[in-house]
Amino acid sequence: MAATQTKTYQNYIGGKWVDSVTGRTYQVHNPARTGQVVGEFQTSGAEDALQAVASAKGGLAVWANTPAPARAAIIYKAMEIMGRRAEELAETITIEEGKPIADARGEIKRAMNIMEYAAGEGRRMFGYTTPSELPNTVAYTVRRPLGVVGIITPWNFPMAIPAWKIAPALICGNALVFKPASATPLSAVKLAEIYEEAGLPAGVLNLVTGPGGQVGNALVESPDVKGISFTGSTEVGTELYAESAKRLKKVQAEMGGKNAVIVLSDADMDKALGGIVQGAFGSTGQRCTATSRVIVEEAVYDEFIAELVDRTSKLKVGDGIYPANDVAPLSSQNQKDKVLEYIGVGTEEGAHLAFGGRALSGGDFDQGYYVEPTIFTEVSTGMRIAKEEIFGPVLTVFKARDLKEAIEISNSVEFGLSSSVYTKDITKAYQYINTVETGMVHVNASTLGGEVHLPFGGLGASGVGAREQGTAAVDFFTEVITVYIDHAAEATERARFI
Ligand code: NDP
Repeated sequence: MAATQTKTYQNYIGGKWVDSVTGRTYQVHNPARTGQVVGEFQTSGAEDALQAVASAKGGLAVWANTPAPARAAIIYKAMEIMGRRAEELAETITIEEGKPIADARGEIKRAMNIMEYAAGEGRRMFGYTTPSELPNTVAYTVRRPLGVVGIITPWNFPMAIPAWKIAPALICGNALVFKPASATPLSAVKLAEIYEEAGLPAGVLNLVTGPGGQVGNALVESPDVKGISFTGSTEVGTELYAESAKRLKKVQAEMGGKNAVIVLSDADMDKALGGIVQGAFGSTGQRCTATSRVIVEEAVYDEFIAELVDRTSKLKVGDGIYPANDVAPLSSQNQKDKVLEYIGVGTEEGAHLAFGGRALSGGDFDQGYYVEPTIFTEVSTGMRIAKEEIFGPVLTVFKARDLKEAIEISNSVEFGLSSSVYTKDITKAYQYINTVETGMVHVNASTLGGEVHLPFGGLGASGVGAREQGTAAVDFFTEVITVYIDHAAEATERARFI
């Protein structure tokens, strides 16, 4: 039998698929079966990034002058192509990132939703008119594209996150350089193929794969890049924000989370448990909105823990490509090492390991990065597992006397992305909504996700700059220009100000 040949994928610059200037490539492996090579990709460097920026400047000249409804037509077309290829794309996500196929299908659906929403903005993109204080004068605002923008994305949503940055950037008339996570370049290649097939003019979307320290950094440093949309770790996001600020670049940085759910004693326990188990262990906990902490009112604490452990013990761990598996492998050896390290830290800190805690081995488990869903109880706010983003299937549980103490625990971390309370008491729900320090707040629902027509983002170490999605995305990807027109027939005396 002939050996299967590994396919080599190229960068997409100026409407052409090209090798990197470095001449080097790297391989990506399936996290569920590390012997399976997903593909070979370009290890690009700064020179490739700068070629892509130059190409984007060319693309911008065409695209910025294309009417927004005409840009929308291309995004709608791309959405249709994505729909046609949905199953293949979902499998690609599972094979290169590892997540369960049902989650990968959901990711494609989410990407299509944002494309639909962003394309709709092509017929809105409102400015406003307002009376001028001067006679015979018209005053209004209009939106212009930012220019060339850099899109730097993580591996945990290799299709949806790029889609929710790229579609809004495009509808606003920007040209872009897309630098996907090194771990998940195949989804990125397929997204670029989709826009190519949809008829996006050459140079408007450029894809460069390769290490963030070189390709991403070159985008940050380039004076021709006017804005950066980043999602990833707080560490990299903070540095990128500071470096961009020095160069007066607009930045939106979506970063980590340590999302907490509060369960009050009057909560619908079944609903709460369903949301928490899905929030903590779905997508192997590798979501920025994953549930990482649960704070339970003491009256129901013991009952809650018993049921939580029981439900968690029924989760089936395995290769995400099989729909029967609930929890898939972690996405890389690094992720596995990091999660196991935190489990060790939690044990050393004195938290009680109530469930899981081991790397899984034997049979198919030996081929991938599998760790059991893990629950720590008796956690206190000073512990590292209570404060730091673990980004894996590890849930920490706290006991609280009442809502007030529960909110204090919830707010005790530097992150502030998403949060939730389960209660039937409307007064308590509002008390929570008004005091919890997160950018997204849920009542009787899990910490996960968000809808594409609403702003997405967090406070503190979870995010900085304009929110993503919804109309907030248009605010980020455009500059607002204020126009004054004096249409008087003759010169008039005008106030002198500013
Ligand atoms: P990073 O923040 O390192 O990577 C995110 C993106 O930034 C990738 O495309 C990466 O490229 C790029 N990048 C890395 N360094 C630079 C740089 N100096 N300049 C510009 N771009 C850069 O996250 P990791 O993938 O390393 O994950 C580490 C941890 O971050 C996770 O364990 C998790 O805790 C957190 N994380 C949080 C996410 C969230 O959604 N909140 C998403 C992903 C990670 P490359 O891949 O080539 O390094």
